[in-house]
Amino acid sequence: MFFDSFLGWFSLDMGIDLGTCNTLVCVRGQGIVLNEPSVVAVRKGTNIVLNNGNAVGLMAKEMLGKTPGSITAIRPLKDGVISDFEITEAMLTYFIRRVHGRRTLVRPRVLIAIPSGITAVEKQAVFQSALQAEARKVYLVEEPMAAAIGAGLPITEATGNMIVDIGGGTTEVAIISLADMAVSESIRTAGDNFDEAIVNHMKKTYNLMVGEQFAERIKIDIGSAAAVGPEVTMEVRGRDMISGLPRKCVVTSEEIREALQEPIGKIIDAITHTLERAEPELAADLVETGIMLAGGGSLLRGIDKVIHQATGLPVRIAEDPLTCVARGTSVFLENLESWKDSVAVHSDAEES
Ligand code: ADP
Ligand code: MG
Repeated sequence: MFFDSFLGWFSLDMGIDLGTCNTLVCVRGQGIVLNEPSVVAVRKGTNIVLNNGNAVGLMAKEMLGKTPGSITAIRPLKDGVISDFEITEAMLTYFIRRVHGRRTLVRPRVLIAIPSGITAVEKQAVFQSALQAEARKVYLVEEPMAAAIGAGLPITEATGNMIVDIGGGTTEVAIISLADMAVSESIRTAGDNFDEAIVNHMKKTYNLMVGEQFAERIKIDIGSAAAVGPEVTMEVRGRDMISGLPRKCVVTSEEIREALQEPIGKIIDAITHTLERAEPELAADLVETGIMLAGGGSLLRGIDKVIHQATGLPVRIAEDPLTCVARGTSVFLENLESWKDSVAVHSDAEES
């Protein structure tokens, strides 16, 4: 124990937000040092990561969507479950090594925030990957806990607080009290599904095929969950589904909002469902403390408004929602000695 804390002075303690869309790494005392897409490029039909294992993150994302036939870009956590252990391991190894480099002789302690939906087997795989990547000690914390900490919620108090983290592949909803999740729910509807809904709308309404990355741009530029601010239009380019030729058209913010209703409805259902399952005392707390939103999906205009309308509770958006989980892991690392036994955290069996 003491030895481990002593080593802490010499080694990097790393916090990792292993997100379905983006992976962020922070180092204790240095803040966020890496922020890249959770993407790996491999040779098709194999688990061979291109560029000698370096086609990960930004480099791999650039290959997405415009890859020649022999290359595929994989998002191993796309649905909040690990679809491929080997690829996840390659990705985690790459990110840990890149941050750790050869800076110290002492191997790092690593705290990883994982989607709460992942299974015990998948958790084990994350532990193993991090240990393989030369971590000295590995801790796993569920993403909603890290998000709540990053958002500054008083997680150790005996008061209920609700966190809703809308990421790319999953939305995690949890009510936290006394450093644990009292009720939680993880659904596979989030930011990616907003993009998908826009792709489908363009197909159905205009016979126009647009790429997912372009759909994401439409969402970010003119998308909304509720009418806030002036309505705007945007020129969209894609391929005509009948003629097969490139074509453009103009869409309005109203129609994009309409197209987003379905996935937003699912997120609201997950929130109300979680509220229904809460003990009355915790539910009563939430009237005061309300709902905190985190994750990139909470940047969709007006999403706080529709959640407020559906629940009647006060809704706030965390400061810098895209880095909330990563910053939470950083705070966690600072409090590791006092929190590792009390806060819901899983650690590998191996002692240093
Ligand atoms: P994860 O934790 O699953 O990796 P993130 O919290 O990084 O996900 O959020 C990624 C999602 O946030 C993506 O679907 C992305 O399109 C969306 N996003 C990012 N910025 C915005 C924005 N300004 N408006 C709406 N959605 C956004
Ligand atoms: Mg996330």
